[in-house]
Amino acid sequence: HEVLMEVRDLTKYFPITGGLFSRVVGHVKAVDGVSFDLRRGETLGLVGESGCGKTTTGRAVLRLIEPTSGTIKFEGQDITHYNKQQMRALRRQMQIIFQDPFGSLNPRMSVEQIIEEPLVIHHMGNRKEREARVRELLDVVGLASYHMRRYPHEFSGGQRQRIGIARALALNPKLIVADEPVSALDVSIQSQILNLLEDLQAEFGLTYLFIAHGLNVIRHISDRVGVMYLGAMAEIASSEDIYRKPLHPYTEALFSAIPIPNPDIKRERIILQGDVPSPVNPPSGCRFHTRCPIAQEKCRVERPVLKESEPDHWVACHFR
Ligand code: SF4
Repeated sequence: HEVLMEVRDLTKYFPITGGLFSRVVGHVKAVDGVSFDLRRGETLGLVGESGCGKTTTGRAVLRLIEPTSGTIKFEGQDITHYNKQQMRALRRQMQIIFQDPFGSLNPRMSVEQIIEEPLVIHHMGNRKEREARVRELLDVVGLASYHMRRYPHEFSGGQRQRIGIARALALNPKLIVADEPVSALDVSIQSQILNLLEDLQAEFGLTYLFIAHGLNVIRHISDRVGVMYLGAMAEIASSEDIYRKPLHPYTEALFSAIPIPNPDIKRERIILQGDVPSPVNPPSGCRFHTRCPIAQEKCRVERPVLKESEPDHWVACHFR
């Protein structure tokens, strides 16, 4: 597998300020030691409950927010400390699609201006060439070119997401972080957009980091799946392996809620006790120990590292 992006020990702490003088009184440890590889041409799904750090991870690897520590390599280059100018050049290769296509599109800009903007920012082409490119991009995402003179509010949610995708494709990126791109859409529209993303991936050789909380969406689109819990990676494996045989107790519980088509395999629904602890003071050792059905004393003191338990199936648990 050729690695497009390598992420190691990524952390992102957000300061919490309080008191009369707005002093820093603590940190939200949104991402706390996350490592994974993104392989060229794959879709890696990142899944977990809200607050698990998947969105922060997606933004940090693109340097849209600054990581607190860790390293990010893109095509072998360490980009963790790239300055603004270096990032600007790199930005062409890595783009993001947001959950809310409406909120992320400027309502006062026409579709043409929205899709063209990245080309303008990067000084690409003259007016005519850019217009031709916008037509081409609209065609690629399945929208007629007469839409280019219209405004975002004139479109449905699914169409707006197509516009967002066209914009993300404008500069021919290699990597797209898709942050809950279908969560705000009706189920029937969701599969249209997922199919579009798959077609585009095949056509342009794109690599996706696909963030979602919906397990069915993740299963539909992902080649591999990474499961996050409270700022940490619990498990990474191929979509097939992780759905068929989850190894981490948290993944087991998470996936026990979805039915499996094979009636020969029986799966009990596992209901976890308690709530997800606060990321301000996460539990010591294994972050999952306060809710894990098989936790032991070791789990409270020693943090498990992500290890390859079965071929290409990585899990962070002392006992799996
Ligand atoms: Fe559960 Fe311990 Fe494994 Fe964590 S390390 S998942 S607490 S058994």
